[in-house]
Formats: sequence, C-alpha cells, structure tokens
Amino acid sequence: MSRFFSSRYEQLTPYTPGEQPQDMAYTKLNTNESPFPPSEKALAYAAEHTKPLNLYSDPACRILTAKLAEVYGVTENMVLVTNGSDEALNFAFMSFCDEEHPALFPDITYGFYPVYADLNHVPYEEIPLTEDFSIDLEEYKKRKGTVFLANPNAPTGRALPAEAIEALVAADPDRVVVVDEAYVDFGAESCVPLVKKYDNVLVIQTYSKSRSLAGARLGYAVGCPELIADMNTIKFSTNPYNINSYSMAIGMGSLLDDAYNKANCRVIADNRTYTVGKLKELGFEVVDSKANFVFAKHPAISGQEIYEKLKANGVLVRHFTKERIKEYNRITIGTKEQMDVLFETFRKIWG
Ligand code: PMP
Repeated sequence: MSRFFSSRYEQLTPYTPGEQPQDMAYTKLNTNESPFPPSEKALAYAAEHTKPLNLYSDPACRILTAKLAEVYGVTENMVLVTNGSDEALNFAFMSFCDEEHPALFPDITYGFYPVYADLNHVPYEEIPLTEDFSIDLEEYKKRKGTVFLANPNAPTGRALPAEAIEALVAADPDRVVVVDEAYVDFGAESCVPLVKKYDNVLVIQTYSKSRSLAGARLGYAVGCPELIADMNTIKFSTNPYNINSYSMAIGMGSLLDDAYNKANCRVIADNRTYTVGKLKELGFEVVDSKANFVFAKHPAISGQEIYEKLKANGVLVRHFTKERIKEYNRITIGTKEQMDVLFETFRKIWG
C-alpha cells in the first residue's frame, strides 16, 4: 500500500478471481466459462457491425438494450447493459444499500458480494445456508435490508424455485431483492417475469457463461424503470461508456443466434448428469446442481489435496478455503472429453 492510498479503502480485501494461468494448457474447469466458442454468426455479425473504434461507443447502448427489451418483453427503460454482470452487481450495491438498508446474502455465495459491500461502505449480514446448503428464505423475511441471491447459488449450484423468490419479493414491497442469474440458463427458473409485476425486484444476467462470451464482459440488469434509472445515475457518474463497441455488436449477434447458445446449454446439462454419475462412482458426494458446475467432496481425500494434485497434473478446479466448504471443490462442466480427462487424472493419482 502506498502512503497515498485513501484511508477509505485501506481495510478493503479485494476479490480474488479464479486462476487464469497463461503458462500451460490446463484442462480448465475452474471459472465456469463455456467450453464452446462464441456463435460463428455472432462473430460474423460483430465483424460487420462494430462501430469505428476511433469514435466513442454509444453510452445508451441503444441497439443491445432494445433487443434485450424485446427478448424479455419489457420496455427499454427496464434494461441496463453493464460491463459484465459484476458491474451490475456493484451498481446495485451502490444504488440500493445504505445504513438503513444493509445487504443480506448467504454465508456461502458469490465471493464478490461482501467485497462490493465493503467497497461501498455498506453494512451486511451473511445468513447461513442450512446444513445441506439450501437457502432458507424465511430467515430473510425476518430481516430488513436489500437481499442478494445468486440463483442458482454459487459455488453450491443449488437453485430456488421462482415461486419461492416471488414470495420473498411480495412479503415486503419496501425491500429490493436482487436475483443474480449468472447460471440460470443451465436449468433453473428465471425471475425476469417478476419485474413486470413488482417494482422491488432486480434480475441480473450475464453473457459470460451460457453465451460463451466471458471475455467480452457483458451483463445486464432487468427491473422496473425506476430501479434502472437509479442504476443509470450511478453508471453515468462512473463510466458512461461502460460497453465497448465490439462487445455491443457481438452481444447483439449472440442474441440473433440464441438457438446456438441454447443448444450448448443442453449439452452442458447432459454433461453435468454424466459428470455427477462418474464423480459418484469415484466416491464423491455431489451437491444437486442446476448450474454449469458441480460442488463435490470426497470422504477420503481433502479438498485442498484434490485441488493441488489435480493442478499438478494439468487439471484446474476451484477450491475455497472458507472453513465450511474447505473439503469441497467446484468443478466447471466442460465438454465430455474434458470431463473424461478429469476422471482419468483422478484415477491416475488416486487409483
Ligand atoms: N454472479 C455469479 C454468481 C458469478 O459466479 C459470476 C462469475 N464470477 C458473476 C456474477 C460475474 O460474472 P460476469 O461479470 O462475468 O458477468
């Protein structure tokens, strides 16, 4: 830390992203990217439609906002496109949390939530998942504050039915519920339809997983016009040109070929079933997942050892050191061939 670093941030512990090694060709099953390339049609569309890069990108992100609004059957002022869904999450913490509206989220969830809370000097409470890693929404109903729910949750993969989230939204019209649907396309129910019925629910999605565009950094929030206007106030006070012209174009191209993305999601769901079966044969306990990853532990081998030895043998998975989940690893679902490399490597090491 330099002696110039603002005292406002000296206590901040930044988020640690999953490893992105550049040194060796790993079988990379650690950051929930898609193993499939972006749609060919989307790439071709972007090559043709990217606005000249000597000009600023459209600060209203008009073309993509309009298309997303059409896809979800909402008006344009109900959509905000962001630089990855991480940016939408940060905007939501900035917009809808303060001393009177602390953030509420599970003890085991996306590791960025407490970082965004700290960054924005927002108080927060982590509400423990139940023994089997389920979210008990009754615990949230008892408390005041802005709720952040990843659905499916990460790193567990467990999903809540949209109906249960609707009951939380309806129970207190004076609280905002933010639903982070980064992994929804792999088998969970979306809460986007709720935004037409309630003005206190915000749904955040991403192009990073189901649309094979993690490197393009595209996400979006869908909510009532007032919530989106608040987030625009934050956006235009931080980075009006948050979406670059290439990403805007490929985001549009990707929506025009969503059949490709949907087909890939079906393959991943099948590979997930295959993976769960194989992991169980190898003795793993696996949490029920609706996402493009599974959360698994082995009764005889520690989580840390599994992570380290797989890595030494060229397979990267994600290990978390938090006490409650340190025996687990989160394994991204890749192609069937990638999953077979994982199983062969596991057998090679542990017999
Ligand atoms: N939400 C959850 C639950 C995630 O796991 C991730 C990926 N790290 C994100 C949001 C952010 O993804 P992105 O910024 O790539 O859209």
